[in-house]
Amino acid sequence: MTGSPKSKVQSPKSKVQGEAKPRYLAPNTQHPAPNTQPSPAHLLSEAAAELTACNVLNPRLDAEVLLIHTLGTQRAGLYTRLHDPLPREHAEVFRHLVHRRAQREPLQYITGVREFWSLEFKVDPRVLIPRPETEVVVEVALRLLLQSAIRNPHSAFRIPHSAFRNPHSALPMRRVLDVGTGSGCIAVALAKELPQAEIWAIDVSQDALAVASENARHHEVAERVQFCQGDMFAPVAEYHEGFDLIVSNPPYIAHDDLAVLQPEVRNWEPHCALDGGVDGLDFCRRLLSEGPTYLRSGGWLVMEIGQGQSTEVMRLVRERRDLTESFCVPDYAGHTRVAVAGKV
Ligand code: GLN
Repeated sequence: MTGSPKSKVQSPKSKVQGEAKPRYLAPNTQHPAPNTQPSPAHLLSEAAAELTACNVLNPRLDAEVLLIHTLGTQRAGLYTRLHDPLPREHAEVFRHLVHRRAQREPLQYITGVREFWSLEFKVDPRVLIPRPETEVVVEVALRLLLQSAIRNPHSAFRIPHSAFRNPHSALPMRRVLDVGTGSGCIAVALAKELPQAEIWAIDVSQDALAVASENARHHEVAERVQFCQGDMFAPVAEYHEGFDLIVSNPPYIAHDDLAVLQPEVRNWEPHCALDGGVDGLDFCRRLLSEGPTYLRSGGWLVMEIGQGQSTEVMRLVRERRDLTESFCVPDYAGHTRVAVAGKV
């Protein structure tokens, strides 16, 4: 036992006798000797230091998420055994994941999951990682369809009354189209919220559709979500006026801005899901020019837009004679994030 951690732990007896400082109560911040089993506390501080050195934004939080992922535990479970030695295999797996994160691989690609609309989505580099602000697309779509605050009654925005002047806008919802579905997060969230709806989800990437289908199966909505591969509206070319709602989170980053995005996005996420052309609005323009053909009268186009794009997007909407009732909705950070237009 000589040299093992236990041999260094003082007995309670010696503490009572005051022969030495009670070292066994000291925080476990020292490096354990080689071949010993490190504690979660030790692994977390080691990982946080490595991630900090690589400029990861939330080093301690990311380290905790990776350790929880490694151990298959909950956060509370981790904290109840913060100083207990861990099996060496777990420490090795954890350190490997931390090295991946230190290369600025997104946390969600490492854990393989991302929460969106309180649902867990499988993600990997074939798809864009769903962002919290995209939940506003879902929220707006639901409000337009159900005309009531069904998820977040305290949310800052209200759909303007004028948006419902069109007598057709109250028709029961039948068909929704998600253009550029990626992980399927919007399509699956809407399918869960609207059990009577039929959802169509298009993506140009077959790889992305494989992930989206898996997410639809996982959330048991696969029979109501029709996945199609193709460019924008090509797979539904015959469905003129076939949809009550078109939703989209199109690529909207201006091409030259891709180079200055944080490494997690720039080096790992699919560029075809991000690159919106010279001014970022290539896909937005196509949604506005091609989308109305596929909307029934009184239907809605709801799309996510980038910061600083709302004025130009609203101008583009006003240019169209087949679109009306347009407005923008801010995200939870107060940035104009979602543009809405109604089909005349
Ligand atoms: N619809 C998916 C999302 O919102 C993918 C979007 C995209 O690939 N641009 O995350």
